[in-house]
Amino acid sequence: MIVGVLALQGAVREHMNMISRIGATPLAVKTRDELKKIDALILPGGESTTIGKLMTEFNLKDEIIRRAKEGMPVWGTCAGMILLAKHIVNQENTHLDLMDIWVRRNAYGSQLDSFIAEKRVEGVSEKPIPMVFIRAPYVEKVGSGVKILSEIDGKVVAAREGNLLATAFHPELTDDLSFHRYFIEKM
Ligand code: GLN
Repeated sequence: MIVGVLALQGAVREHMNMISRIGATPLAVKTRDELKKIDALILPGGESTTIGKLMTEFNLKDEIIRRAKEGMPVWGTCAGMILLAKHIVNQENTHLDLMDIWVRRNAYGSQLDSFIAEKRVEGVSEKPIPMVFIRAPYVEKVGSGVKILSEIDGKVVAAREGNLLATAFHPELTDDLSFHRYFIEKM
């Protein structure tokens, strides 16, 4: 199985390492040709406005939307979650407009810019998973087809809608492979 990581900006290499560790083949995706080769796609963390702009400039946006609507599994981590969302509550632009979630960017404000939590996620891991939040968004509201996977302090931080997965945190910056396994084996 070839798992692409959108490689325009952000935490690309870390995701690629995790994909290799679970025995799938990672591919850094920068072109439409590379998009054709993949079976699943990860949108990494980084800066969502930058990745969103580059996605359009590199002529990838329409093709990602098309593949996702065809059923290709797509997982957005942090900035990637913002890119996936249909609704961004504190920003005008939406990007891929795919997942029925209402996302607040930089939701934890400046005091709590970055923090680590630990929580077991039903269906994903038997043990608590370390969750690294870096200037993270959270989900304020979900549409009726969206399954909430995890909440921290009453805010949704992981959710799934069919072939779309979103996490506000960064599993690729930890040693825990549970979410990568979940994405590759259960979606
Ligand atoms: N704050 C970034 C944004 O709004 C996301 C940060 C991240 O991906 N770690 O795009």
